[in-house]
Amino acid sequence: MDKSDPKKVLVIEDEDKIREILSVYLNKEGYACTVAHNGEEGMRLVCGHPDLVILDLMLPDMDGEDICKRIREDYNVPIIMLTAKSGEPDKLKGFSSGADDYVVKPFSPRELMARVKAHLSRTGTRKDFISINGGRLIVYKNSFEVTLDTAPVSLTPTEFRLLKILIENRRTVLTRNQLLDLVQGYDFEGTDRAVDAHVKNLRQKIEKDTRTPEFIKTIYGVGYRFIGTVDED
Ligand code: CA
Repeated sequence: MDKSDPKKVLVIEDEDKIREILSVYLNKEGYACTVAHNGEEGMRLVCGHPDLVILDLMLPDMDGEDICKRIREDYNVPIIMLTAKSGEPDKLKGFSSGADDYVVKPFSPRELMARVKAHLSRTGTRKDFISINGGRLIVYKNSFEVTLDTAPVSLTPTEFRLLKILIENRRTVLTRNQLLDLVQGYDFEGTDRAVDAHVKNLRQKIEKDTRTPEFIKTIYGVGYRFIGTVDED
């Protein structure tokens, strides 16, 4: 490993002992380790763009699964979930949070280090784009770029986020209120009309004919739904 540029690993774990062990092992392996004692701190530290996250499933303030989903919304970082042994098969079955790996406690730190290394060596080959309708529309999740028929489309951050959320929730109709909640915190103005205005602007940029949309459909009296076909579905 290049010592001048150590990979950053964020550990989100409330148990002091496990946090300490992980931080000792990670530092020994040459990684720059940052620790968070709870979910809130973890969500804050993930903004520092770690190269990998080790996330405990059971945290005092937030559910590890929710944290995992939230990290996934904004970052393409590998996530290794630490899970407790009890009830593990049931719990694992219900996972849809998008963790890359699961390690059951009690675990061997050496084994975990081997997995950390494996995931970090894979980084960069992870898919960071969503291809729609046979590549007609491509959404690059990390660089916030979008292309339509290979030509770049210039979207505002809000339009980009709106599009990404519609695509990620394509199996359901999203109400204007849900869209507000999901996009909020980024420069969304808090009214239904603002949602309509952003959707209108987005459509003008990505739809050939806004009256017969190929991507974003208005569900009258309810909200919006993404109707394009994601190529990997
Ligand atoms: Ca815990």
